[in-house]
Amino acid sequence: MKIENKALREAYGLLHNRTPLGAYNCGKLCEAACCKGNADCGMWMFPHEEEIFVKSDNFTIKQTEGNFGYPMIVCNGDCERYERPLSCRIFPLFPAIIEENGEEKIRIIRDPRASMCPLILDKSRLDQAFVRNVKLAGAFLAQDEEIKEYMKKVSAELLEIAELKKLLSAED
Ligand code: SF4
Ligand code: SF4
Repeated sequence: MKIENKALREAYGLLHNRTPLGAYNCGKLCEAACCKGNADCGMWMFPHEEEIFVKSDNFTIKQTEGNFGYPMIVCNGDCERYERPLSCRIFPLFPAIIEENGEEKIRIIRDPRASMCPLILDKSRLDQAFVRNVKLAGAFLAQDEEIKEYMKKVSAELLEIAELKKLLSAED
């Protein structure tokens, strides 16, 4: 798997062996709930990521209106670990770029779209080394201007969804 873009290469490397539960395969908790999509369900691709998968027979790249001009990638529900796209490597988290006191900071947030993930409800179970590596990966990704702009747009959308979820919640 050849990754030309330096920021993506670093991020992929940092999240190759780190999983949300450390050495334990979290898919056993939930029968890999996040891998059970269908042909219309896919993972959003980061800028430059399409180049990595364009020749792979194991994935389909589809255009989508929902990913700020970038495509999504669809799998068949099973993959080799080394081939996981970045969205799968960081799931159920996202390195959000948030402006605080006039400065842009990377904050690791739980992805509000990950409602099927048991780790979203119980963040105390998340492996802290995984969380740190998502943050470090976010810092590398933000060094690429195009990826940084994309992350800012996704961050704003995720925070909006999180806010809406909070507003819609019928519980205290
Ligand atoms: S849904 Fe969450 S716990 Fe289940 S496999 Fe995906 S990341 Fe792991
Ligand atoms: S690429 Fe792999 S990790 Fe990602 S959803 Fe598909 S099977 Fe799951």
